[in-house]
Amino acid sequence: MDRIKMTTPLVEMDGDEMTRILWRMIKDELLLPFIDLKTEYYDLGLEHRNATGDRVTVDSAEATRKYGVAVKCATITPNGARMTEYNLKEMWKSPNGTIRALLDGTVFRAPIVVKGIEPCVRNWEKPITIARHAYGDIYKNVEMKVPGAGRAELVYTAEDGTETRETIHQFTDAGILQGVHNTDASIKSFARACFSYALDTRQDLWFGAKDTISKKYDHNFKDIFQEVYEAEYRERFREAGIEYFYSLIDDIVARVMKAKGGFIWACKNYDGDVMSDMVSSAFGSLAMMTSVLVSPSGVYEYEAAHGTVQRHYYKHLNGEETSTNSVATIFAWTGALRKRGELDGNKELMEFADRLEKATLGTIEAGKMTKDLALITTLKDVTVLNSGDFIREIRNTLEAVS
Ligand code: NAP
Ligand code: MG
Repeated sequence: MDRIKMTTPLVEMDGDEMTRILWRMIKDELLLPFIDLKTEYYDLGLEHRNATGDRVTVDSAEATRKYGVAVKCATITPNGARMTEYNLKEMWKSPNGTIRALLDGTVFRAPIVVKGIEPCVRNWEKPITIARHAYGDIYKNVEMKVPGAGRAELVYTAEDGTETRETIHQFTDAGILQGVHNTDASIKSFARACFSYALDTRQDLWFGAKDTISKKYDHNFKDIFQEVYEAEYRERFREAGIEYFYSLIDDIVARVMKAKGGFIWACKNYDGDVMSDMVSSAFGSLAMMTSVLVSPSGVYEYEAAHGTVQRHYYKHLNGEETSTNSVATIFAWTGALRKRGELDGNKELMEFADRLEKATLGTIEAGKMTKDLALITTLKDVTVLNSGDFIREIRNTLEAVS
C-alpha cells in the first residue's frame, strides 16, 4: 500500500515522560506505516528546553505561525522539585503558557465520547465543549506580599504622563496583592473565535462571567462579546439556527449541570482551566479530552488536555508495566492531520484521520482498553491492555478496516 503523501509539514512538538514514550509508539505504529509523514521537529522535552535556554519553545511557536498547524506532546512545567531532578539553569515557564502568549487565541476542549464510558452527570447526552480564553488574567499576573500596614494603589500612567489612581486597600497589617490585566484586542479575538467555532460546529454558545461583582473588568468581557455578536454574528447565528447567551457564571454552572450538552461554554482563562478538568472527569477521564488552541490569525495547535503522567513514567523506568491511555494524544495527531489536510486540500490525509479515530474508538467499544477506562466502563468482560498493546490493538483494528 502506498503511504499517504503530505505537502506542508506539521510542526511537531515533542514532550516529556510517559507521553513522550506514547508519542514515539503512536508515530511508529499508527502514523509512519500509513503516512509519508512530513514534520518540522522541535524537542520541547525539558532537557532540551534547558539546553537551549527555552529558545526551542519560542522557535516552535514561530514555526506554528509560519506553517499554521502544530501538534504538541504534554510537557513538564518546572517547579522546585524539577529544578533538582533535571538540574535546571532556570525555572523555565510553562511551554503552554509561552506558546499561548505568542499565538494568542482560544483553547477549545471537548470530551471524546465513546459507547461504554457514560458521563456521571446522567442528563449529559452530548459533549460539552469548553472554550477557554488563553490570554491574561491571573496567568499574566503581578503579585506582591504586603509586609505590613500601608496603602496599596492601582496606578495607570498614560503615554503623556497623566496618572489615574484608585486605592485598592488601606492595609493595617500584612497581606497580599495581585494585579491582573487583559486587552480589548485579545477579548475581541476570543469572542470571534467562540462565535466562529459555534457557527462551524452548529452549536449554541454560552458565556458566563462575574459582571455583577467585577463591574469594569468582567463587564468589559460581557460588553465586548455583545458588541461583536451584534455587529458580526447575530444574523449568521439566526440563519444557522443557533443561539448566543450571556449569564452570570454561577447561573451558567447551574444550567450546565441540568443541560443535555451539545453546546460551547465560553470561559475566562481561570474558569476554563478549572471547568475543563471538571467536565472531562465527569465525561469519563482527562485522557478522553481533545484540546486545540485556535489563534485569531487562523493558526491551530493540537494537544492532549492531560499532563505527562509522571507516576506511570516512574513505573516504566522501574521496568514495571504501565497501562497509560493514549487516546487524547492520538486525537491530537488526528486533529492536526485533518486540519493540515483541510488547508492543503489533501482529502486522503483527512480520511486517514477519520479512520484512525474510528479505529481508536472501535477498539474501546470492542472491550479492549487501558486500565483508567476499564475501571469506569459499563461494558462487561473487558480486556485491560498495557500502553503498548493498546496502541498495537488500535493498529490491528485500523488495518482490518483499511
Ligand atoms: P497528569 O500527568 O495529568 O496525571 C495525573 C494523574 O491522572 C495520573 O497520575 C493518572 O492517574 C491520571 N492520568 C492522566 N493522564 C492519564 C492517561 N493518559 N492515562 C491514564 N491515566 C492518566 O498530571 P500531573 O501528574 O499532575 O502532572 C505531571 C506533569 O505534567 C507535571 O510536570 C505538569 O507540569 C505537567 N502537565 C503538563 C500539561 C501539558 O503539557 N498540557 C498539562 C498538565 C500538567 P493514576 O496515577 O491514578 O493512574
Ligand atoms: Mg487545569
